[in-house]
Amino acid sequence: MKKSSISRRSFLEQLSIGTASILMTGPLDLYASNNRPDRVLGVALVGLGRYSTRELGPALKQTKWCKLAGVVTGSKEKGEQWAKDYGFPVKNIYSYDTMAQMADNKDIDIVYVVTPNGLHAEHVIAATKAGKHIICEKPMANTVAECDQMIAACKAAKVKLSVGYRLHFDPYHQELMRLAKEKDFGPFTNMTGDRGFIMQNKVWRADKKLAGGGPLMDLGIYLVHGACMAANGAAPIAVTAKEFVKTKPELFTDVEEGISWTMEFSGNAICTAQTSYQHSADKFRAEAPNGWIEFKEHAFTYRGMVVETSRGPLSFTPPNQQALQMDDFANCILTNRPSGVSGELGRRDMVIIEAIYKAAATQKRMEVKI
Ligand code: NAD
Repeated sequence: MKKSSISRRSFLEQLSIGTASILMTGPLDLYASNNRPDRVLGVALVGLGRYSTRELGPALKQTKWCKLAGVVTGSKEKGEQWAKDYGFPVKNIYSYDTMAQMADNKDIDIVYVVTPNGLHAEHVIAATKAGKHIICEKPMANTVAECDQMIAACKAAKVKLSVGYRLHFDPYHQELMRLAKEKDFGPFTNMTGDRGFIMQNKVWRADKKLAGGGPLMDLGIYLVHGACMAANGAAPIAVTAKEFVKTKPELFTDVEEGISWTMEFSGNAICTAQTSYQHSADKFRAEAPNGWIEFKEHAFTYRGMVVETSRGPLSFTPPNQQALQMDDFANCILTNRPSGVSGELGRRDMVIIEAIYKAAATQKRMEVKI
């Protein structure tokens, strides 16, 4: 089957042939003809960097339950260009300092925080003060303590909080979750993964204050999350880890350049993984007694995934993960149901990541207590 960007309708038709069981509930029902929103929610993107520009903005042209209604940016000119491109009024352009004024703006229901990790807590808390529902990019924050503050602020403001875990809306990862749940191959007991890219220049991702850490925060988090998916949503009980020797110490002054780790799950399941800014990789494999699934290429991205199982290759036409993710959250708000990719899930991953860093620093096995 040829992979291409297709309409939501043909995506649904295609999926309905092969994977009906995973579509009975969940985000894809959003587009059933008898399930149309009375009101389309307004989203304001906070931070107009690469991810907003290349993925979230374009995705918001495909969404049905929400649309781009405003931006928060340090550049007025950039904001005006976005207003023109996306057709929202210039009054809906805010700076980081004026976010609180959004409280009076009925056009904006959801604030989507897409700034460097170290600013997520500040921007999420500012959005709660404006009384808006929030999506926060991954990793949720630099520390578990910040995650706790963010969750508490959302509860106090009675707003919903979700994390940008778009792969919950991807059919290949939904198949991983289905296999983990229904145990077609038995429970997954051996997981392996590798994610990396080569970083040449110092950017915020290599600055501890803004990134919280090195590649484990940016890339390794996908392996942590994927392993928990393969463990049917369970968190590991303990981790061990070892940092790579630095080849560019001038670039990676206060974060790791690479790290390998193991996650022990109950039932003797284990995940061995590595991530770095010194090699390129994007793969993940989960093995069970009677079969396996392997994400061979682009395992955690939005284009070009190559996935096989012991039964043969999987072939889904990829949907727009981000559009599904944002529409699902809008639907959560409009129907008052909890998000499947909640702040608590973002916090869980940060608990695991902190344990991995502690294990690397102490060279000791660390228990994970969620
Ligand atoms: P980016 O560097 O391209 O954009 C960051 C934005 O934040 C810029 O608009 C920048 O101007 C703004 N910003 C505000 N204050 C800043 C400061 N003090 N220092 C630096 N920038 C500041 O980054 P990005 O790739 O868009 O990533 C943003 C967030 O999105 C990160 O948390 C990242 O992990 C996440 N992300 C998620 C995915 C995904 O697939 N879910 C993909 C890419 C990025």
